[in-house]
Amino acid sequence: MSEIPYKIYLSENEIPSAWYNVRADMKNKPAPLLNPGTGEPLKAEDLYPIFCEELSKQEMNNDDQWIDIPGEVLDFYKMYRPSPLVRAYCLEKALGTPAHIYYKFEGNNTSGSHKLNSAIAQAYYAKKQGLKGVTTETGAGQWGTALSMATAYFGLDCQVYMVKVSYEQKPFRREVMRTYGATVTPSPSMTTNVGRKINEEFPGTDGSLGCAISEAVEAATSQEGYRYVLGSVLNQVLLHQSVIGLETKAALDKIGVKADMIIGCAGGGSNLGGLISPFVGEMLRGENQYEIIAVEPASCPSFTRGSFVYDFCDTGRVCPLAKMYTLGSNFMPAPNHAGGLRYHGMSTILSQLYDDGYMKATSVKQTDVFAAAEQFARVEGILPAPESSHAIKVAIDEALKCKETGEAKNIVFGLTGTGYFDLVAYQKFNDGVMDDYIPTDDDIAKSLAQCPKL
Ligand SMILES: *Cc1c(COP(=O)(O)O)cnc(C)c1O
Repeated sequence: MSEIPYKIYLSENEIPSAWYNVRADMKNKPAPLLNPGTGEPLKAEDLYPIFCEELSKQEMNNDDQWIDIPGEVLDFYKMYRPSPLVRAYCLEKALGTPAHIYYKFEGNNTSGSHKLNSAIAQAYYAKKQGLKGVTTETGAGQWGTALSMATAYFGLDCQVYMVKVSYEQKPFRREVMRTYGATVTPSPSMTTNVGRKINEEFPGTDGSLGCAISEAVEAATSQEGYRYVLGSVLNQVLLHQSVIGLETKAALDKIGVKADMIIGCAGGGSNLGGLISPFVGEMLRGENQYEIIAVEPASCPSFTRGSFVYDFCDTGRVCPLAKMYTLGSNFMPAPNHAGGLRYHGMSTILSQLYDDGYMKATSVKQTDVFAAAEQFARVEGILPAPESSHAIKVAIDEALKCKETGEAKNIVFGLTGTGYFDLVAYQKFNDGVMDDYIPTDDDIAKSLAQCPKL
C-alpha cells in the first residue's frame, strides 16, 4: 500500500530511559501549589505527609529536563511497551481524506489504558520508601485497575475509593481490582469523616472524583505507612506519561514524518500532557510548530468554559490549592459515560500552556463521541474507551476538513484505551437512549463562585 507500515513499532531498547520534564523548558512555569490554610506556596517537604518523598520532589521539579526512569520501572514497561503507533489507513480510506492519521495506542495492557505508565512509577517509589501501601480514588476504574496491577507487582497494599456511580455501573472493573488484591470502597463512603460529611450535604449523591480524592487522602494520612497516589492532574503524572510522547516522536522520526496536528482527550490532562510534552518542548525552545488540540466533554468543559484560578483539587477541600482551568471543586458533572473525563480541574502545566497559547481546546457532545467511536471500531478494529473517543471524534472532524481543503496533514492522536468495561454506555448509544447533558452558564457560575478568594 505504501512504504509506511500499519504499525510503527520501536524495539524494546528504544523505550526511553528518562522521562522528559516539559516544565524545564517553560518560561512561564506552572503556578505553585498553595497551602489551603495559609495561602503560602508549598515546598516538597510539605507534601511528604501525603505523597512519597521522591514523588513530592518530582512534583516540585521545574528545572531538570530529564529524569531517569528507574531500572525496575523500565523492566515493567518492557512487559507492555513500546506501544504501537498505528497509521489509520482504514479510517483514512473510509473518510476519503488526504490527511494521514496516526494514533498512539495505549490500551494494550490489562488495565486497558495509559494509566499504568504512572501507576508503576508511583508504586515503585512507594516501595522504595518502605511504605506498607497506598490509597487512591478511581473514577471509571482504569486508574484503580492500573494501580492494583502495579501494587501487586511490588507487594504493596492498595485501597481504592471508587466513585459510587462507577462502582455500581462497572462491577467488572471492581473485580479486576480485587483480583489484583486491592480493597475497593464506593465513594462517598461512611468510612471517612469527609465521606460522611459529603453524604450528609448531598444525600444520595453519585459521588465524584473530587469526593473520592478527599476520602483517599484522609485514609492515607490517618494510617501509618500509607501515602496517597493520584492517577492524573499532577505534574509527576504528566512527567511519567511523557513516555507516550517520547515513543511517538521516536516512531515518527523513524519514518521521517513530522506531525502537523496532535490531538488528545483531556480529563486531568495526563495522557495529553504526556503525548505532547516532547513536541511542546520543541515549540517552547522555538524549534518547531505544532497545532495541539485538547478535547473535553461538553458535560465537563474545564478548558472551554472554566476559569484559570486557584481552586481546591478535591470536593472535601483537604488538598493543596492549584492554579488551573477549573469548573469549581463543587462541580458535579452529569453522569456522562466518559468517567475518566469528569474531573472539575485540569493539570496546572496544561493550564499554563493553554493560557500561553501553545494549545487549543474544544468540547464535544457525548452522542457525537460514540458515533465516532463506532465508526472507528468498525474500520480500525479496536473497541475504543469513551474517553479516547473524544480524540477520535476531533481527529475525524479535522481529517474531514482536510478533505475539503485538499491538505494532506499529518494528524496524530492519542488512543488512550479500550472500552470493554464501557458496554453499558455503548448499549445506551445503540438503543438510542443516550443523552447529551450540557451544564448551563448558571450551573458553572454557581460552582465557580465557590473557588477560594485569595
Ligand atoms: C483516565 C483516562 C483518561 C483521562 O485522563 P487524563 O489524565 O486526562 O489522561 C483518558 N482515557 C482513558 C482511557 C483513561 O483511562
